[in-house]
Amino acid sequence: TEACLKAIDSADALNAFVHKTPEIALERAKAADARIQAGDAPAMCGLPIGIKDLFCTKGVDSQAASGILEGFKPEYESTVSQQLQDSGAVMLGKLNMDEFAMGSSNETSVYGNAVSPWRREGDDAPLTPGGSSGGSAAAVAADLCLAATGTDTGGSIRQPAAFTGITGIKPTYGRCSRWGVVAFASSLDQAGPMTKSVRDAAMMLEAMCGHDPKDSTSADLAVPNFEAMLTGDIKGKKIGIPREYRMDGMPAEIEKLWSEGAEMLRAAGAEIVDISLPHTKYALPAYYVIAPAEASSNLARYDGVRYGQRATLEAGDGITEMYEKTRAAGFGHEVQRRVMVGTYVLSAGFYDAYYNRARKVRTLIKKDFEDVFAQGIDAILTPATPSAAFGLGEMTDADPVQMYLNDVFTVTVNLAGLPGVSVPTGLDSKGLPLGLQLIGRPWEEGDLLNTAYALE
Ligand code: GLN
Repeated sequence: TEACLKAIDSADALNAFVHKTPEIALERAKAADARIQAGDAPAMCGLPIGIKDLFCTKGVDSQAASGILEGFKPEYESTVSQQLQDSGAVMLGKLNMDEFAMGSSNETSVYGNAVSPWRREGDDAPLTPGGSSGGSAAAVAADLCLAATGTDTGGSIRQPAAFTGITGIKPTYGRCSRWGVVAFASSLDQAGPMTKSVRDAAMMLEAMCGHDPKDSTSADLAVPNFEAMLTGDIKGKKIGIPREYRMDGMPAEIEKLWSEGAEMLRAAGAEIVDISLPHTKYALPAYYVIAPAEASSNLARYDGVRYGQRATLEAGDGITEMYEKTRAAGFGHEVQRRVMVGTYVLSAGFYDAYYNRARKVRTLIKKDFEDVFAQGIDAILTPATPSAAFGLGEMTDADPVQMYLNDVFTVTVNLAGLPGVSVPTGLDSKGLPLGLQLIGRPWEEGDLLNTAYALE
């Protein structure tokens, strides 16, 4: 813990930790030492980790990287961070992210963007660690902590993991409690671990998940010992390669990595099968209707009364002016765009044309996956991202769709509620990490992690 705290202090340039909690960390580390000495050490005992700013942590700033939550110190602890604490993990502080987890580059954060510790060979231009869990990815990749929590609504664990050469798993929807995690799009949001290895991910996921009566969508299922399932034996497993993910304009390096990954799994005894997920091309548009729709509803609670900031009002201002001024000042551009899009697609005249249609598409996407799993496919191998990490400032506000295209391989998994893991599998010609994604059957994270282990 002391070494991590020192590393964090010397890495301010990465802007990964946005609220440092050294006193809490040292106190919890001491308690962990005592538990170890007493021979009562749970799995995460004494392991220093970072917590994404989206998780409410009792008495500690929890801002979701938004101006509107400045100064908000929750009275309660999220279930996931509480479980990690109960398992002995030591919180070092809160990690940078895109505002309300909306973004793919960490550039929508009120704290300014986190920076990747990676650089292209012979080029000093700073790169994005990805988003929205950019601070988590940068911190783990730069050895500021041993692991971090992330959340994933459309790729926010897997894309930053791929961009920084670490492992990240989004579990099945309902595996981890969403209680105390600031809501973005409630039917898609899941928490998960971001770690240096598949083994670490298995260990940490076990500590994070489980049934929670405080979240009605959390599943009442036993939590397996994921780590014990890492045998590396994948003989006879059927791995699907979905042809619809072979997109026009995909860089040759990504194609190559993908075939090499398939080869590795074949060499380990798996059978590689060509499959079709026919509705894949509608996933991104459906996601960018459903996620903003839910966000516009979830973010209605930031009204200048219940949480965080209230704008300065003038004499004569009423409740409407208070809402308007507070939300105009407190929300950044991307969040405002999502609220507007969401409100539009939910409005009486457009509900059927957009929101309802997107929900139908979502059902078809889910069915695509159910069909291939029914055919005996155990896991699906795809690239995690369409490119390696891009430069900070390279994608601008002027064309948000460019940024949205980054999520093309990840959003299907959230729409279908499936587990997906990103594993670092190689470097591109500029020396930047690339990741492959494995998608599994619902509730079979153990099996999925074992396949990822064979790819690692
Ligand atoms: N990049 C996607 C978005 O902006 C996904 C974000 C996430 O998974 N939280 O919505």
